[in-house]
Amino acid sequence: MTPYVLLMSQLLSFPQQPDIKLDVTKSEASRPWAFVAPHENEHVGNAYLKQQVEKFGGVFAILKQHGQRHVTLSVDGNALQADPNRIFTKRGRMSTLTKLNPDLAAQTQLLAMAEKRAQALAEFILHSINANEASSWVAIHNNTQGYDDDGHKGRGTISIKRYQKKLDSGASYLIRVHDAGKDEDDLFFITESTDYEAMKKASFNVVLQNPDVALDPAEDDGSLSVLAEKQGRRYVNVEAERRTEDGFGDNHVAEQQAMIDMLFTILNESHP
Ligand SMILES: [Zn+2]
Repeated sequence: MTPYVLLMSQLLSFPQQPDIKLDVTKSEASRPWAFVAPHENEHVGNAYLKQQVEKFGGVFAILKQHGQRHVTLSVDGNALQADPNRIFTKRGRMSTLTKLNPDLAAQTQLLAMAEKRAQALAEFILHSINANEASSWVAIHNNTQGYDDDGHKGRGTISIKRYQKKLDSGASYLIRVHDAGKDEDDLFFITESTDYEAMKKASFNVVLQNPDVALDPAEDDGSLSVLAEKQGRRYVNVEAERRTEDGFGDNHVAEQQAMIDMLFTILNESHP
């Protein structure tokens, strides 16, 4: 284990649009680990992850703009929405921009400019965390209690129970699901089968992505997990429940901290 090392933390502005910032924490313990928190309204585990990066190494970037899930791109006088975890491939950028801005599909030139801006933002994020030099990419997210149509008034699409149903009904973007009996919203979503076994053994909920998402355009949603798969990198998404702005669900602070501890255990084991 690495002892405490000097920490550098800085707020970087996106050159093309300085109201978008990255809060970057860089440990001087050099490790090939890149961490990112792309959704600004999902911050339950960020402070703890910062501390652990400080202790063990890596680079961690938190996207900051106006506190929302989506970023607002200011393009040619237009305020356009984009999901910052859908901008890592061209297909994903076109999809998130046309989905979140319904009038944009008909405005070819503006759409092209927006796609370029989103690409620049993706490159800015990846550059800030030294993603090209990193062997492991880690994303930290939070999700809402339950899932849509779960019969318990749940919300959203992230739940180990929903993933199990998806797998059972033939969804092709995942190949293994382990429901450890922990809260359904606290789960790892990952790319490496060795990590899957370690997480399963340690009794965490875990979903293994199907490597074929790298080859299938229909599964290319522009998320960091798809880019990681395309580049053959190890990817781990650490997901835990959060309390929504209207008071639904709870912040699973301790649960996500335990997951972060587990993550660093396997990172330290594989890159001593
Ligand atoms: Zn998220």
